[in-house]
Amino acid sequence: MNATVHIIGAGLAGLSAALKLTARGHSVVVHEATAFAGGRCRSYHDAAVGLTIDNGNHLLLSGNHAALAYLRDIGAADRLVGPSHAEFPFVDLGSGERWTLRFNDGRLPWWIFDAKRRVPGTRVLDYLPLVRLLRAAPGQAVGEVITCDGVLYKRLVEPLLLAALNIDPPQGAARLASAVIRETLAAGGRACRPLIAREGLGSTLIEPALSHLQQRGAVLRLEHQLRALRFAAERVEALDFGGETIALAEDDAVVLAVPPYVAAPLVKDLTVPTEFRAIVNAHFRIAPPADMPQILGVLNGTVEWIFAFPGRVSVTISAGDRLIDGARDVLAKTIWSEVAAATGLPAELPPWQIVRERRATFAATPAQDAKRPGAATRWRNLALAGDWTDTGLPATIEGAIRSGNRAADVIAGPP
Ligand SMILES: Cc1cc2nc3c(=O)[nH]c(=O)nc-3n(C[C@H](O)[C@H](O)[C@H](O)COP(=O)(O)OP(=O)(O)OC[C@H]3O[C@@H](n4cnc5c(N)ncnc54)[C@H](O)[C@@H]3O)c2cc1C
Repeated sequence: MNATVHIIGAGLAGLSAALKLTARGHSVVVHEATAFAGGRCRSYHDAAVGLTIDNGNHLLLSGNHAALAYLRDIGAADRLVGPSHAEFPFVDLGSGERWTLRFNDGRLPWWIFDAKRRVPGTRVLDYLPLVRLLRAAPGQAVGEVITCDGVLYKRLVEPLLLAALNIDPPQGAARLASAVIRETLAAGGRACRPLIAREGLGSTLIEPALSHLQQRGAVLRLEHQLRALRFAAERVEALDFGGETIALAEDDAVVLAVPPYVAAPLVKDLTVPTEFRAIVNAHFRIAPPADMPQILGVLNGTVEWIFAFPGRVSVTISAGDRLIDGARDVLAKTIWSEVAAATGLPAELPPWQIVRERRATFAATPAQDAKRPGAATRWRNLALAGDWTDTGLPATIEGAIRSGNRAADVIAGPP
C-alpha cells in the first residue's frame, strides 16, 4: 500500500484530489473544518422556503471536461441536465425584447452569420474584437483589450464574462476571459451547452463522490479543522488539529485544499489572492411555468440569470457586492418583481430565501490573478489545491476540480 495522503478541505478541489489519489492506490484521509462536505458548492435544507436548496445556482458548460470526467468517475454524469444544443434564451427587461442565442454545434461559428441565431441588433463584424481577447497579453484587463460598450457587449460579452469571472468585466483579467472564450465560444456549441444539477449540488457533485471515496477506503473526518502545519526542512512533518496532532511518516503527504485566506497563515511566505467578489442568490418556493427554460438570461435588471428547478425558481447575481448590506426583504421584493416580469409568474411574493456569499470567488483582476500560486510548493510532500490556485481559469467548479487533479499529480507523479 502507498503512503497516506491527508487532504485538508472537502470542497470540490479536495474531493477531486481524493478521488484521483484513491484511484491510484493511496490511502486518503480528508479533514474538513465544518460539519459538511462541499464547501462553496453545497445543498442544505432551508427552513424559510421549506426546501433543500443550493448555496448558489451553479452553471456548468458541456466544455467543462474535468468536471464532466469527475462526474463520470463518481457515476453521476446523468444528474446534470440541459438542452441538447447550446441555447440561451434572454429577456431584456428594459425593452421587453426576448430572443434565444443559438450556437451551432461545430467549431466554425456560422451562428454569427445567421441573424436568427446571433444576438439581435448585432452585425457579423461586431464579433471580430472577440478575437483580440483570445490574444490578450498577460496582465491586461478586459477593458484594455476590447471596448466594453455596444449591443454585442451588453447582450453577450457582459453576461458571459460577468457570470464566468464574477467581476465587472472591464476590470477582469483578459487572460481568464480568454481561457473562458477559448474553452467555450471558440470551441463551438458542443462545448457551450448549459448544464445544471437539477436535483441539487449535493446529490450530484458531493454525495456520490463521498460514497465513492468511502468504497475506496478513504476516511472523511468532519469538524476537524487544521490549525497549523509543522514544517521540517523539506517536508511537512505533522498536522496540528488543536486537540490532536498527526505525525506524518516519511512518505506521507498533504494536499491543502482550503480557501486562500485560510492557506496563507498556514504556509510561510505564501502569496495568495486577497480580494474577493460576492455572489447573491435568491430562492423562491414556487413551481416554474411549464414552458420556462431551465436558465433564462436577464438584461437591464438587478437579476442576471433565472433558474427553473422542480418546485423552485432561483436567481443569480454575480459581482453582487453592492447588494451585500441592504435589507433582505427589500432585495427579495425587487428580485421577485423582475422574476415575475420575466416569467409571467404572479406578482405576489412567494416564500423566499436570500443567500449572500461575500467571498464567493477571488476578484479576477489581473493583479489578483498574478498572486495565484501553482500546486507544487518548496516542501516535497505539500501540494496546494483550490479554485484560487493558478489554474489559468477563473474560480469555477472546473477550475477547482482541475486544481485537485493537478495537486494529486504533484503528490503521486503524473498518471
Ligand atoms: C454562490 C456561488 C455561486 C457559484 N456559481 C458557480 C457557477 O455557476 N459555476 C461554477 O463553475 N462555479 C461557481 N461557483 C464557484 C464554485 O463554487 C467554486 O469555484 C468551488 O466550489 C470551489 O471549490 P474549492 O474546493 O476550491 O473551495 P471550497 O469550496 O471553498 O472548499 C474549501 C473547503 O475547505 C474547508 N476548510 C477551510 N478551512 C479549513 C481548515 N482549517 N481545516 C479543514 N478544512 C478547512 C472549507 O470548510 C471548505 O469545505 C460559485 C460559488 C458560489 C459561492
